[in-house]
Amino acid sequence: MAASSNFPSPIPDFDAQEFWAGCNRGELLMQRCAACKRFRWLPRPMCPFCNSLEREWIRVSGRGKVYTYTIITHPVHPAAVSRVPYNVAQVQLAEDPDLILVTNLVGIANENIRIDMPVQVVFEEHEPGVTLPKFKPA
Ligand SMILES: [Zn+2]
Repeated sequence: MAASSNFPSPIPDFDAQEFWAGCNRGELLMQRCAACKRFRWLPRPMCPFCNSLEREWIRVSGRGKVYTYTIITHPVHPAAVSRVPYNVAQVQLAEDPDLILVTNLVGIANENIRIDMPVQVVFEEHEPGVTLPKFKPA
């Protein structure tokens, strides 16, 4: 689903390019250390657990649960004026409790969102070439 708005797009940094490329293909990829096999988020060049520079990208299930959330009612950017109220959530992925993504929940009214509710990733085209991972109730 393409969202028509001038809401700012993320600017992928070097370490997150694979993540964003995966989103554009409809795949949720997480960076994992190729040495100790622990996931990490945000993507970065060195493993914070074993200091290895070897890394791999693993397609994860896209299942998770709402870790916490808030409802934005005050637009802090001109592009958000038509969007409020909207939710911003942290979703904890099923593969590892350290994988907590900041995202939006879709397909649910804000007043029905609950902490710990199971969710599943969906991908929304924000603009051509920029697809955002969002989550819907599972
Ligand atoms: Zn490691």
